Formats: sequence, C-alpha cells, structure tokens
Amino acid sequence: MNQSGQKTQNEDVADFYRAIDRTSLIHKISADHPYVYTTMEVYDVVNGIRGAGGLGVLAADTRRVAEDLNIPFITLTPFYQSERHQQMDDKLVPHDAYITRVPEQEGFTHSGSVELKVKDQPDAKLDIYTKTLGTTRFLCMTEQNFGPLYADKPSSDHRLYQMASLGFGGYRALKMLHIKPAVIQLNETATIFTAVARLDELCSNGMNLYEAIVYVRKHTLYTNHTLVQAAESEFSYEQFEKFIFPNISSPALRHYVAGLFENGKLKLSSLTIELAEAKNGVSKLHARVADYHDINGEKVKFAAVTNGIHLQTWVKPEILRFYKNSGIIDKFNMPGCVTADQVRNIFRANTGGLRNLKRQGRRYLNDILARRMDQYGEHIQIPENVFLYEFKRRFVEYKRPWMPFEDVDELKEILVDNNAHYIMAGMIAGNVDPNDSTYKRLEGMLQTIADDPVLRERVHYIPDYDEELAKAMSWGSDASINVPVVGMEACGTSFMKDLANLTLLIATNDGGVADVAPPTALIVEGDDYSEEVKALYRRMREAAAIWRDNDRWSDETANVLASYLSVICGARMMRDYLRFLFRPEV
Ligand SMILES: *Cc1c(COP(=O)(O)O)cnc(C)c1O
Repeated sequence: MNQSGQKTQNEDVADFYRAIDRTSLIHKISADHPYVYTTMEVYDVVNGIRGAGGLGVLAADTRRVAEDLNIPFITLTPFYQSERHQQMDDKLVPHDAYITRVPEQEGFTHSGSVELKVKDQPDAKLDIYTKTLGTTRFLCMTEQNFGPLYADKPSSDHRLYQMASLGFGGYRALKMLHIKPAVIQLNETATIFTAVARLDELCSNGMNLYEAIVYVRKHTLYTNHTLVQAAESEFSYEQFEKFIFPNISSPALRHYVAGLFENGKLKLSSLTIELAEAKNGVSKLHARVADYHDINGEKVKFAAVTNGIHLQTWVKPEILRFYKNSGIIDKFNMPGCVTADQVRNIFRANTGGLRNLKRQGRRYLNDILARRMDQYGEHIQIPENVFLYEFKRRFVEYKRPWMPFEDVDELKEILVDNNAHYIMAGMIAGNVDPNDSTYKRLEGMLQTIADDPVLRERVHYIPDYDEELAKAMSWGSDASINVPVVGMEACGTSFMKDLANLTLLIATNDGGVADVAPPTALIVEGDDYSEEVKALYRRMREAAAIWRDNDRWSDETANVLASYLSVICGARMMRDYLRFLFRPEV
C-alpha cells in the first residue's frame, strides 16, 4: 500500500498473479527472463506496424494486455519496410499499393545487427530495432530487401527467408540483448525457427540433442489458427539447404531436421508439433476440430485458449467506463461478479444513456468516413437516423461476404423497409491472381451495387480495411454480419469488438461465437446454404425490429454481452495462457 492507502499498480498486478497462481509468477517471469511471443504479423498502426488481419490484431492485443498487467513480455516480429494498402481503380477493381515505413520514424531504436546465413551468398545483415512500452518490448528485425508481409507465395524462397530471419535473427537478437525466454509462444508455424535456434544454442553449449529437445519442448507453446494440416505451407529440402541448415551449427540437429522430411518436403507444422509440448487452438470449437497428426500419425491434442481483445483499444471509452462503474468489468479488465440478470437490470436502468453512446459512435464513424473514400472515390456520411448493418472482415471465400447479395430483391426490400444502410470493408489477400474467384466475386458484387439505384444509395464499400475502420464500424453500426461457413473460422475477433460496443450480432455458430452454448447472438443456421441465406434475411429483419424497441434492444445487447464477456476479455486470455504455461498441475 502507498501512503494514501491505495494499492499501487504493481501491487494490483501481484494480486492478479496470486489470483491465478499460488507460487507467484513473478519468480517465473522477469525482465531478463520474459514471456517471448513470436509472430510474423503484428497489427498495431499506432506503433508503426500494420498487419493484414486477425492474426496480427491478436498479437498486438496480447502485448497490450501484457503491458496493462505489467508482465515482462517481448514481441519478436519482423519490421516490414514495405506496407501493403488497397486502392480502387475507376473500374471498381481493387489494386495493391505499397508505402514505405522507416523504423526510426515510427519510434523504434536501432539496437545492433545480427547475421543470417544463406547458402552461396554473402551473410545477410539484419538490423535489430526495439521499442519499449512499459514492461513490454518490440524486438524487430529488418533490412532493405526484406519485402512486405506475406510477400510472394506461401512456400516461396522469400517467405522462408523471412521466417529464417525472424527465427534465427530474432533469437540472436535476444542473445545480443541478454534475454533468456521463460517461454516462447509461437503464433503459428511460420515462427518455428525461433525454437530451432534455441535448440541449436543448447546443442552448441554441449547439451545432447535429445535433452535439448526435451528442454525446448517444455518451454515452447504452439498456437494454431489453421483448421487443416493440408493448408500448412511446406518447403523442399533444397530450400532448407539454402536458408535453414546454414544457420544451424549442430550437425546432430541438422541431421534430426533432415530426418523429418517426407518425399523431399517438410511441413512446418510437423516440425512445430515435434518441438512444442504445449499446443492450443484459439476457440473451444477450433481446438476440438483442428485435425493434425504428428510424424508418427498420432492425432495432436490442442488445448483451447480462446482469443480475446484488448478492451481499452476496441471499446468506446464511455461504454467501457460504464462497464467499470457498474461492476460489469473489474479493475483487471476481467468480467466482474455480476450475473446476467444483473447486467440486464443495469442496462434497463441506463438504456437511454447507452443509446446515446451509440449515437456518439455513429458520429465517430462519420468522422472517420469523412477522411476515407468509398468504392467510387467519394466521401460518404451515414445519416444519423438510419439503421446500419455492417460486414467487416477479410474477403475470403469461407467468410461469405456475398451472402447478403444472394437475393438482391430481398436485400433491397430489407434496406428500404427498415430505412437501413449497409457498410462493408475487407481486404483481399495480397498476391492473388486478378482472375482469382475472390477478386471476381468482389468485382461482381461491386458492379451489382453500382448498377442498382437503391443499392447504390444504401450500400457502401470502403477499401483498404484497417484497424481504424474496424473500430469505427464497431462503434457506429447497429448490427454486424458474421457468417463464416461453420467449422472454418478458428476464432474471429471482429464479433467481439461488435458486441462489446453494443452492436447486435448476426452470426453463424462458429469460432469463438460457439464458445457460448447455446449461443445468444442472432444465430444464422440452416440445413443447406439456401436455408442459411433465408435465415440471414430473417435475422436482418429481426435485428432492425429489436433496435426499434428500447426494451428489446436493451435486453438483447445485455444478454449477449453478459454471456460473451469472459470470452472476449483479453485479460482472461492472458490469464488462461499463464495458467496453461506455468501451472500445468491444474
Ligand atoms: C479485428 C480485426 C480483424 C479480425 O478479423 P476476424 O475476421 O474477426 O478474425 C482483422 N482485421 C482488422 C483490421 C481488425 O481490426
């Protein structure tokens, strides 16, 4: 306690540690011995790093939560000097456009350099940049020709070079800064070479290979976001000879890795499964259905640690303050001790104020839209009194952005009957062929909208989807549409941003939505696709009807929030990871 009798922030965090672990975590994690999180992608524009989607947003939010909780934490990630954006041309075709980022201009400090070996080429020199934020730190590697995130094809030389840079370069940077990881979390298999580098160091220090593998396995967590192993990238022996083996000094380790190849190919997931004892999927459903096998053909067991979001980043501050003042969220940004009934009563007593906060959210969205352009290159504003549907997520087949357009007459009727608008945003993955079906479908959808006067007035597509737009759309929309093919979404976090900002949720029962059983959102389900489409239209009408009725709106938003609160809290996710990693006996 300090003199005023209030706990300092450090004491609060000690409380938190005690709450999750009898023998305090402070002895297990320290500044020299931090939690190291390694990821190819971080999405944190405020800190000068733009990602591509959910994987990067999760990485950024995980660090932010660690900073809040004073956890010694390092985010090991590349700094991409080339950053991808999306622009529309006047034929309604999206194009990639790249801008340059300079680490010094983004507040990073040059902290030295490390070498990376490439067969038959001079050593590459990777510059190491750091940025410290509270107890957390970004540790980044980069060089002039590093290229953008997700450059080239998944199994290309360039990708493997980037992965080797992150893994071997990143591990050498940790050593250079005298940091010994307490644990290494691998955010997907592209980061596996961090664990390989650690293994190599132990072998070089005289440990025998099998002891070293046991040690590395015990201190490595593999977080999987991919449903099927067939979708994992694989590399040839020749590619490993060029980029990987030159960076491994132990002959025994090289021999071991070489032995994992099958028919001249190695899937990084196979290597990762061997080197990480702790493995998790990112929602309950995903952990259950992810179908992976180790090199002996044994099915891999994934624990479930559902993704959460950093509430302070994504929730409108006034709404978050309301949650805190009413005890819905506690001082750690964890769910408070209130029942669903109590949340409903709290909402009923404050419905007018909450609706007013949503109107403020609409104004915020319009402020952002004033700086952005729609598909025609025009600045749009959403009228204050209209009902606003939104779809904001990467445009990939399984997320089905075109589902509301299956019956254009029905969509138009819903929009007109409810005086509604519909706003959409979402990137298409880079390096796709312009003849790719996703591109073609996006173009077709934009053309359908352009050709119809009702849709042209009421449906808006905002190119170059990013965090700013994600936040503004969560704050300023009334209902969000989240309809992935069931079984395809690992978790998804957009829906968390929406429900936390009191946006009605129209969703298929997939990913993190399925963590709550039975789900409380406006669920879209049906025996086949056409039944699902009909269910979507019914739910769209229902959402607008709920919105028109204060009591129904209050109860619906309260119910969904109360049931998903522990699912969405980033602090809850961190607690689960700490428990999983440091208290395996429970
Ligand atoms: C939150 C967010 C995501 C996450 O998308 P999901 O499809 O829900 O996983 C992706 N991109 C951006 C810019 C985001 O802010």
